[in-house]
Amino acid sequence: MATKSRPDETASGISRRSVLAALGHLGIASLLAGCAVPRREATWRLPGEGVVVHRGDRDFETWRRAMPWQDWVAARTPECIARPADRGQLREALLHARQQGLRVAIKSGGHNVSEAFLREGGMLVDLHHFNGVEVDAATASATVEPALWGRDLSLHLSEAGLAFPVAHCATVPMGGYLLGGGVGINTDHWGIGCHGVTGAEVMLADGTTVDAGSPGHEDLLWAVRGAGTGFFGVVTRYKLRCAPLPRDVRENVFVFPAARVAEVVQWLEGLVEDGMPDTEVMMLLANSPGPAPGAPPVTLCIARVVLFCDSESASRERLARVLAGPMASQAVFSETMKAATIDSLMIGSVDAARGLGFGRSHVNTIWTARTAEAATAAAEMVSRAPSPKTHAVISLRKHKALPEDACFSALDRGFVGCYGVWDKASDDAVNIAWSEASREALQPFASGNYINELDAFRRPDLLKRAFSAEAFARLQALRKRYDPQGLFHDFPGLS
Ligand SMILES: Cc1cc2nc3c(=O)[nH]c(=O)nc-3n(C[C@H](O)[C@H](O)[C@H](O)COP(=O)(O)OP(=O)(O)OC[C@H]3O[C@@H](n4cnc5c(N)ncnc54)[C@H](O)[C@@H]3O)c2cc1C
Repeated sequence: MATKSRPDETASGISRRSVLAALGHLGIASLLAGCAVPRREATWRLPGEGVVVHRGDRDFETWRRAMPWQDWVAARTPECIARPADRGQLREALLHARQQGLRVAIKSGGHNVSEAFLREGGMLVDLHHFNGVEVDAATASATVEPALWGRDLSLHLSEAGLAFPVAHCATVPMGGYLLGGGVGINTDHWGIGCHGVTGAEVMLADGTTVDAGSPGHEDLLWAVRGAGTGFFGVVTRYKLRCAPLPRDVRENVFVFPAARVAEVVQWLEGLVEDGMPDTEVMMLLANSPGPAPGAPPVTLCIARVVLFCDSESASRERLARVLAGPMASQAVFSETMKAATIDSLMIGSVDAARGLGFGRSHVNTIWTARTAEAATAAAEMVSRAPSPKTHAVISLRKHKALPEDACFSALDRGFVGCYGVWDKASDDAVNIAWSEASREALQPFASGNYINELDAFRRPDLLKRAFSAEAFARLQALRKRYDPQGLFHDFPGLS
């Protein structure tokens, strides 16, 4: 498969768009677990480009710290980290783990909010080298490996006149994103990411590779579509169904004081219900510096409507529907018809100064049918956030039908998330306390949780709210069938 190098790390610092894209992470102050003397065979290595480091190796801690995407690193230490160069080495790693009695955790891009891939003991398999992509314009499909960034996929697809609902942040890889669902660009119309997964190659606990969805493995494809951190195999490839690339993309932004958040939500809900095709409706709640030195920051509510059309005239026609009614004209600031591309919607999220990351972060999100109330609670939380980078994102959708053949089974019209983002380790405690308070503030309005943005180490009870009861039970039964000896870790909080 063709591989794509990372984009140059030249993008700007935190901007409006980068804040919007800064969907979050996890952080608390961590005292590193002491490097215990390895109990198992610590000389096992992989040849060539494959890497294995064991606890006690001189550079082990450097490798461990390099696993998460963010600066905060969970205080959990695997016994060894293996970075296989190819499928043969991946198989060798799994068989070695079985033979040594090591439980296995998988990492594609390390963006998981709870750093679920970092477990105490066992083997961490890092799929860093699995970042290939192939696009077939004729069938409007793509085959991707798990460490491929959403942005890299998007660039390849654009060349072929195609698009896919990749994450809003450029660096989010396809592996964990698709496995847990994928609430990405124009998701209300292009679908939840995992709904576009038409096939997958999975390496099972015994080292065999199977095609999920092939006869006898239909259940496996069902699980690939949404099991998230509860999956019981290694996804080495996804096959995706893509959408035609819109030829005229326009960003429209309307800024209001946070006090009007409920009205803004109602306005945007009306637009969504109106059934405008290919329109993404989101809101950002963020703090702006006060109007004078020493003045307290002002919390703003920024409505962002992105139109995915095929011509400027179609975009203008659709914008007229957005501008109809009283709300748009009451914005304290607005900018309309700003030309955009899928890439420009994403790339602002890359912050070279921070080494591509956003420092330290922790996130809590909910699905809700009570978006105005949840957004009001989020605005209140943002107004007393300890870090100026902390923000909330609200996304609205019309379509909430779930395909029957997907494990992904929690979805509602509103998606509300509080994203704590800060820089210094010394601020971990206060920011984590804020994040935990924001989770409690949002939860009363939740109809469900999103497995990709759920810290189940802290709240394992919320796992069942990320799935229907039927899907959760079916997933656990499939785990017993496909991984009877429990090689792979279960959900955080359950193993
Ligand atoms: C900056 C940022 C922006 C984000 N934006 C969005 C967004 O717009 N929309 C959205 O829906 N989500 C978003 N997310 C959340 C994101 O979808 C999840 O963090 C997702 O888990 C990241 O994928 P990953 O490959 O980095 O997973 P990792 O962190 O590498 O892995 C997480 C877990 O997934 C499982 N896993 C991962 N890869 C595999 C594999 N190949 N085979 C088997 N199991 C695997 C493992 O259980 C692992 O512990 C964002 C996160 C961040 C940090």
